[in-house]
Amino acid sequence: MVLELASNMGRVPEAPDLAESPLSIRGLTVTYGQKPAVFSVDMTVEPGKMTAIIGPNGAGKSTTLKAALGIVPHVSGQVQVFGKPIDTQRARIAYVPQRASVDWDFPTRVIDVVLMGVYRELGLLGRLRGRHKAKAMDCLNRVGMREFAERQIGQLSGGQQQRVFLARALAQDADLYLLDEPFAGVDAATEKAIISVLKSLRAEGKTVVVVHHDLATVTDYFENVFLINTRKVAEGPVTQAFTAETLQTAYGGRLATAQVDQLAQAVG
Ligand code: ADP
Ligand code: MG
Repeated sequence: MVLELASNMGRVPEAPDLAESPLSIRGLTVTYGQKPAVFSVDMTVEPGKMTAIIGPNGAGKSTTLKAALGIVPHVSGQVQVFGKPIDTQRARIAYVPQRASVDWDFPTRVIDVVLMGVYRELGLLGRLRGRHKAKAMDCLNRVGMREFAERQIGQLSGGQQQRVFLARALAQDADLYLLDEPFAGVDAATEKAIISVLKSLRAEGKTVVVVHHDLATVTDYFENVFLINTRKVAEGPVTQAFTAETLQTAYGGRLATAQVDQLAQAVG
């Protein structure tokens, strides 16, 4: 499938464009200073699947997503979203940044955070109507946060905040969802709630890409993985790309050999 998509690149699409790779990256290189944070990375996300981006701390996982979205500049590389330039496809992408990168000290209600998700639908001159609020409430309901609508976002726990950010992403009605470590520092109930929402998105045919740090849950949660350590290490179905060998390459000495063996056995 992945190979087929890659060889189709550059051809005029005949099929409906949902069959195109929702996110395809070629030769992406990003530097913050002298050293590249991401070097010559290719990625072809498979449509309708859940893909985990895996790699050690500082491997360039967040940078890959941010550079693909144009949030940080890249030195070189091409990015296509559903086979088209990303700037024509932004309405189809919902991005949930790493929570630590958002400062919610200023007073904002939960419902207002979720309403940010409908602004694209609203347009610059559109008026916020009852149905927008109803939609935002429905999205809060999907993540189990309806009762918190009038609360200040800064007063919620990390897990509750993460659910609200997911609700905002849901309100965008995107086709491609990009989430950066949505499970970091959340309670078990939130993790369950988030994964169940992500699986329901996939059931609707959406594509979900998640930067993920917990190797133990990769096989449970995801169909595909993308392993990175500045360079791409492996990409593909979990059963093929998430192996003792690829983990050792990505993590080097940072994972005990026993841990790698254990994980690889879990993969089968
Ligand atoms: P990951 O998400 O895999 O932990 P990042 O993409 O955040 O990794 O970071 C990749 C590398 O780039 C790291 O060495 C990190 O220290 C560096 N880096 C990330 N963001 C910045 C920044 N804004 N300025 C300078 N260096 C950065
Ligand atoms: Mg990161």
